Parts: sequence; C-alpha cells; structure tokens
Amino acid sequence: MIPSILPTYNRAPFAFAKGENAWLTTEDGARVLDFGAGIAVNALGHANPDLVAALTDQAQRLWHVSNLYQVPQQQRLADLLVAHTFADTVFFTNSGTESCELAVKMARKYWFDKGTPRSTIVTFTGSFHGRSSAGIAAAGSEKMTRGFGPLLPGFTNLAWGDHDALEATLDDSIAAVLVEPVQGEGGIRPLPDQCLKGLREACDRHGILLIADEVQCGMGRTGKLFAHEWAGVAPDIMMVAKGIGGGFPLGAVLATEDAASGMTAGTHGSTYGGNPLACAVGARVMEVMTADGFLDDVNRKAARLRQGLEGLIAAHPGVFEHVRGQGLMLGLKCKVPAVELVKAGYAQHILTVPAADEVVRLLPPLTITDDDLTEGLARLDAAAASLAP
Ligand SMILES: *Cc1c(COP(=O)(O)O)cnc(C)c1O
Repeated sequence: MIPSILPTYNRAPFAFAKGENAWLTTEDGARVLDFGAGIAVNALGHANPDLVAALTDQAQRLWHVSNLYQVPQQQRLADLLVAHTFADTVFFTNSGTESCELAVKMARKYWFDKGTPRSTIVTFTGSFHGRSSAGIAAAGSEKMTRGFGPLLPGFTNLAWGDHDALEATLDDSIAAVLVEPVQGEGGIRPLPDQCLKGLREACDRHGILLIADEVQCGMGRTGKLFAHEWAGVAPDIMMVAKGIGGGFPLGAVLATEDAASGMTAGTHGSTYGGNPLACAVGARVMEVMTADGFLDDVNRKAARLRQGLEGLIAAHPGVFEHVRGQGLMLGLKCKVPAVELVKAGYAQHILTVPAADEVVRLLPPLTITDDDLTEGLARLDAAAASLAP
C-alpha cells in the first residue's frame, strides 16, 4: 500500500520537535547537531530570535494581501537587495524552482522583445536548478529527467569544465548561460574565479545573458553575500532562495534593468510570491547578514572549520580524500559512499547532507558558535572512526 505521504524521499529516522541555532531536539529529547541547516536554508540557525520576532510581529498584523496591491514589506526587501547587489530590480517567488522558471522566461522574453529571438540556454553537467519542467531540462541529468519527457526544449547541457565545448557553443544564437558559481547538489564544485570571469567575457562577446543560480551558494554561504562576488564579476540575472528566508519559504530573481526589460505588466505573477510574512523575515535576514562584521565572522569560522577538516582527513586517510568549497559551504570528498558517512554521522547525532560525486556536504548555520564547530569536528571524527576498516 502506498504510504500516505508520497514516497519520493528517503528519509532518515529523525523527527525533530524544536531547534536552537545549530542544535535540533527530537521528539524523544535527543540533541542533534545540525551541519546541514535544512540544506543551506536555516542560514541564521533554528529559532533565531531576530527572525522569530520579525515573523510574529508581521503575523499579528497581516499575512496576505495579493500582488494586486502595494506590499511595503516587499519594497523594503527589494530595496535592501538592490542596495547590496548588482541588481536594479527584484521579483519575489516562493522557492528556487520558481526562481528558475522566471529566470528562463526573463532571458527568452529579453531576446523576443529585442526582435532577434534566441531561446537556447546553456547549462552544465552536475548542476541542479529545481524539479520543474524547466529545472530538470536545464540540469539535464538522466536521474532527474527519465520518464518525464517530453522535456522543455531549448537547453544545451555542456560538460562541466569543458572549455573547448563552451567556446564552440557560445555564439550569437545563445540566449543565456545558466550556472551555479558553486555547484551544491553536484558535490560542492566551485567554479574557479578565472572561469566565471572568462564566462562573463565570453557572454559579453556574444551579448549572451549570464544567469547565476545562487539558490544554495548565495546569502552569505561562501563568505560573501553572493558567491559570484569572489570573482569580481556580476551576472545579469540571479536566482535566490533557500537562505534568504532563513527557513520561511521565499525566493527571488534579481536582474539588471536591461535584462529585466521584457518583463512588463502582465508577463509574470505569483499568488504568494513576496507575501508580507516571507518578506518581513527576508528583510531581517538581509539586515543581519549585511551588518558590520557578519561576513567577516563567517570567513573566520570557515577557516577554522576547514583547518579542522584537514586534520580529520589526515587522521582518516581511508575515509576521506579532500575538502573543497568556500566559506561554510564545504564538501568532504569520500573514499567510502557518501551516504555511509552521513549515516555514521546520524549515529553520532550530527546531520550532514550527501551530494553527488561521493561528497558529504557541510552547511552549518552561518551563526554556529566556535564551540559547536569544535563539537561537530569531534562527531565527524567519531563517525569516520566507526567506518574505518
Ligand atoms: C535547492 C536548489 C534549487 C531549487 O530550490 P527549491 O527551493 O527546492 O525549489 C535550485 N537551484 C539550486 C542551486 C539549489 O540548490
């Protein structure tokens, strides 16, 4: 008999009742250290008092009004995002998938309105852009697309890191290039700064729009507000979600005035997108992350964690290969199946997240304390020791 919850997930046997920063407590009172943060969502930890206050204040006033009217909370968050990024304008969604849908529509409409239609969007292997028809067609992997055809046409999926294929493909017929500056699901694979720079230059040569999917690597995760900032270049369109709501469903598409020029009244919409609850929380997240010293502290903690992981790798050469990533978006490349290490972590009451390429993702809340980082390293050490032959 089919379970009453559609069985599309392999779930671990934890049921959490409450959380506090990097700690979760199960219904039976066990405390579990969270190095996954709901897959980079709980960027400011669980039950963050600032976010609880922002949400409950708004909950007592107004939940929903519709985008038929002005939404001041949306305006406030949009102004913050525009002030701190390359973007001139923002559309609010409820998820990364929805942000992907709009990014694709925006790029195609841009070229349609120019009178020289281009529809092809270049993407890369190992990427993840959500589970909608556009998202799975963009990522292109057999695992996500099999059985769901016909796929949305107009995507060209290139091998990640194949510069020759990229050079041969990018020409004046391409609408956009869609790329994660750091691949998340693909196994914490950062695009080297010089590659993102080169990609920007190649796009500029052909007028191609550059779309950054920063759903996972954005919002302070890599130690910059957005990961592309490390390379010193900016995209034309950017997809955001996960961390921006700190656990409340919220996403956004940010764009330059030019890239967004096709999206006039009536061309896109969302019932819930940008609702007062989500935007009140999102604005608070932005205020916290852009406060003096916040990102410095993320980078300081990231260096500590990375150093600790190097020690762990040296101590367990049969389990680990190397560590990669940036900031508090780190991946432990394993010599054992990644799910084995994640399960061994569960036994030590630490949550991590498996990714492709036998990588275990470490994505603790950006607000994690130094003591909890140390505790996490000790638990990962014990997990690795339990696997050693
Ligand atoms: C999670 C993720 C998405 C999809 O976001 P949802 O909120 O699950 O729809 C898209 N792109 C990237 C890079 C992601 O990590």
